[in-house]
Amino acid sequence: ANFADSNLHGLIKDNVALSGYSNPTPVQKFSVSAVCSGRDLMACAQTGSGKTAAFLLPILSQIFSGHKVIRNQFYSKAARPVALILAPTRELALQIFEEARKFAYRSWVMPCVAYGGADIGSQLREMRRGCDLLVATPGRLSDMIGRGAVSLSAIKFLVLDEADRMLDMGFEPQIRQIVEEADMPGVKDRQTLMYSATFPREIQQLAGDFLKDYVFLSV
Ligand code: AMP
Repeated sequence: ANFADSNLHGLIKDNVALSGYSNPTPVQKFSVSAVCSGRDLMACAQTGSGKTAAFLLPILSQIFSGHKVIRNQFYSKAARPVALILAPTRELALQIFEEARKFAYRSWVMPCVAYGGADIGSQLREMRRGCDLLVATPGRLSDMIGRGAVSLSAIKFLVLDEADRMLDMGFEPQIRQIVEEADMPGVKDRQTLMYSATFPREIQQLAGDFLKDYVFLSV
């Protein structure tokens, strides 16, 4: 099966074709169907497996189809993304952001990126131009939440990418705080996806705490 025959939204198919992808990788094939059917997901997948598109495509497709999401409020003070992707490093966050820009091309969805070690003021200014899908490192995001610059009250899709690396880097407290924030009363129907190269005890624990009725995928 190729992307053109999939159930993805037409705009996504066009943007996938523009990226030059014709056939899904295994992790993409299984992630797309699990996420499009509304399930939570725990996927063991390495870098290079195509895991970035594996979560971006079904998330953007569902946002475009408007099943769960209404257009973000324009005039609220805090950014209120509908999708949040957590990544361990600036490099990975930027890679995911660039992919998101390609796949959101010619749509209303504005991707945004936030990472530590760079000027927070300019990241916040970018964010004010629109922030529907936010890619962030955990430390910088908790800082922004603390300043009231980001609200997770509209989150419908939460992704933990390279979860094992985030734990190795000591981000567990920030991750737990962020997930708690996204669990506040009023937040409904959230889908949570975890991607990890390894599946040690700590990741199993996190999956048990954050995911519900999840599909387990190992490629
Ligand atoms: P990732 O594992 O997400 O970091 O992706 C690894 C590389 O594979 C990236 O350079 C992608 O652009 C590329 N890639 C991902 N999915 C596909 C696909 N279905 N067909 C061709 N290339 C792909």
